[in-house]
Amino acid sequence: MISLQTKIEEIPRVGVVYGKRLKKFGIKTVQDLIFYFPARYDDFSEIISIKQAKQRLNDVVCVQGQIVEIENSNSFKKFTSLTQAVIRDDTGEIDVIWFNQPYLAKNLKEDDFVCLAGKISLGKDGVYFNSPSYERINEIGENEELTHTGRIVPVYSETKGVTSRWLRYVIKPLLYRFCEQIQESLPEEIIKKYKFLPIQEAVWQLHFPNSFEAADAAKARFSFEELFLIQLNVLKEKVKLMQKSAPACPMDSDLMKSFTDSLPFQLTDSQKKCAFAILKDIEKTVPMSRLLEGDVGSGKTVVATMAALSAIKCGHQVAFMAPTEILAKQHFKTVTELLKNFDVKVGMLTGKDARICKDGEIFEVSKKSFNGDLENGQIDIAVGTHSLIQKNVIFKDLALVILDEQHRFGVEQRDHLIKNKKLVPHLLSMTATPIPRTLALTAYGDLDLSIIDEMPANRKKVKTIIVEPAQRKEAYNFIDKEVKEGKGVFVIFPKIESNASKLAEIVKNKGEITGSFVPQNYGFNNSLVSLAINEVKALKEEYEKLSKEIFPDLRITMLHGKMKAPEKERIMLDFKKGEIDILLSTSVVEVGVDVPRATIMMIEGAERFGLSQLHQFRGRVGRSDMQSYCFLFTTDPSMLNRKRLKALVESSNGFELAEKDLEIRGPGSLYGTVQSGIPDMAMQGLSNIFLVEKTRAAAKEILEKDPELKNYPNLKDRLKQFQTRIHFE
Ligand code: ADP
Ligand code: MG
Repeated sequence: MISLQTKIEEIPRVGVVYGKRLKKFGIKTVQDLIFYFPARYDDFSEIISIKQAKQRLNDVVCVQGQIVEIENSNSFKKFTSLTQAVIRDDTGEIDVIWFNQPYLAKNLKEDDFVCLAGKISLGKDGVYFNSPSYERINEIGENEELTHTGRIVPVYSETKGVTSRWLRYVIKPLLYRFCEQIQESLPEEIIKKYKFLPIQEAVWQLHFPNSFEAADAAKARFSFEELFLIQLNVLKEKVKLMQKSAPACPMDSDLMKSFTDSLPFQLTDSQKKCAFAILKDIEKTVPMSRLLEGDVGSGKTVVATMAALSAIKCGHQVAFMAPTEILAKQHFKTVTELLKNFDVKVGMLTGKDARICKDGEIFEVSKKSFNGDLENGQIDIAVGTHSLIQKNVIFKDLALVILDEQHRFGVEQRDHLIKNKKLVPHLLSMTATPIPRTLALTAYGDLDLSIIDEMPANRKKVKTIIVEPAQRKEAYNFIDKEVKEGKGVFVIFPKIESNASKLAEIVKNKGEITGSFVPQNYGFNNSLVSLAINEVKALKEEYEKLSKEIFPDLRITMLHGKMKAPEKERIMLDFKKGEIDILLSTSVVEVGVDVPRATIMMIEGAERFGLSQLHQFRGRVGRSDMQSYCFLFTTDPSMLNRKRLKALVESSNGFELAEKDLEIRGPGSLYGTVQSGIPDMAMQGLSNIFLVEKTRAAAKEILEKDPELKNYPNLKDRLKQFQTRIHFE
């Protein structure tokens, strides 16, 4: 018995070969295939007479007629086969030509009735139908049962060996047979409230819509549903967490005041507001989950340190995790400095080093002794890398985890840190990646949000300039002049590695290349071999050019992802000290090492980076009171990129830029969503804040009534299936 759960290869029209191909889309069962929705539609719904069609040169039209003759021939070009036919209706005849579909003459015979949809082209013998879609019909005028023509026709994302035509051919009969068995997954009250199409109707209308309005209505339903499932997913985690307890850390206002008084600057209003929200949060026994967002240089570390101090003075410990060794060391230094007058024991643990700071002096210690101190409570705050969540690292009394630039740190990792202890630590996650509100509310929907949206007053705006190819020399001269005044220059060179490896993969799997993966204009020719050049080699070529031709008398050094951490660190320090003039690197400098003497950020191939990423690069300079500059070099002057780069010139606000990116490039451009597996419909929904808020409210309402979804078994099932599909990073 075939059912919705039947494996796809058991379906007669599918079989093992197609089954394998479909698995590439994650389609394993009949139900998966039915839920594989089209990416777009062709509108072949207007059927006209042949006479009318002949007057519609270059238009896409649809006609019905009888085949007068049909035959194959090999064209003058080798390997190209040609199928030629003549079709007739009451109003006239038209020629039809298909390329490379020799089996057509076997499928379609003289006297057959067909429906054709495609473009009318002009050949040397007059107008003809150019490779139209076709299907056989019983008589002229038939339009009830059309699948590939004569209607709004679904077009799916295709892979090699799976065409839209084939998908229509397989999906339609499955819909006839199984659509009625699909269980409604949305709660009835939601369907009613928003007047959604019931699921069976919506599935039909998405695949084979009666009208574009019907397709839109069906889409709206599934956009809602997918976002709703995402919301249920994150909020469910949150409900789970809310049932656990965290150590309460009551705020000591005098202590906080003496901390802020000890700073060489005044906190911005934004910093104050965020600090207050966090300090209030950790007073509670409900575990905090908060995301602190703020542009590079907005001063998140100070705010986090206030929370740390508060927790420590309540007798607890704090873990402060950075994504890299360099940053861990930098934070260790910053935190020791900030807390030097407050009698706090600061330690640092990375993959290689363990250090502690005692009376203002820093000591290297063994990991064993570090771990011992941590377990005894001798260390108040441990700054470090992921080493901090290793098995043998045990905190005596951890109350707060601070994460710098590590977006996902779920309940699981928290459990890891507390090692069977009863209390869950509070969590403060920090990021300089401005996340548009819609995404924050979905992908990070379990976190409360604090935003530092103002920069310290002493900062000068970085001047951002798009450099035309003709102005390159001028820009180089300017750089030369700045360096001679002792300033540092970053040069960012786009990484090509992902393209190259993607390409290698495609070549291996399919023996074909698609245009979009071909990195162009980087000085290598577009042959396969040179495309597989790795990042390091491309960078070296650039290095040679800069150091030999352009700046022969300056000290230039390369930095790239293949280098080991200590080497990178040594280079960054040399740069910081002024022993390197120009640091040429791939995007590895993206994360926050502070080099106040650097005043120029020069970005090659700027159009290859997202706006948010460019904004992050720019944030590497302008970290002192000197005027800083960001030069954007482009290799692709297309309008779209210009628009993006212009946005960067005009705005220095990361949030604004992230929203712009969303607007210009669509949700696919959002940080992390590409890999996140967020389904298409939900992705489209992400650009709609109202929809996001609606789904969030609906999910909350349901979970509050019924946290385990006991009364919504179908919804619960759908959610389970869904959870295996999405994974936020
Ligand atoms: P980020 O948000 O990028 O982590 P940091 O916390 O590293 O920023 O702060 C960047 C620099 O700005 C540090 O040197 C810090 O001491 C300084 N800073 C932080 N807050 C202020 C402020 N309100 N006024 C002036 N400088 C500040
Ligand atoms: Mg920082």
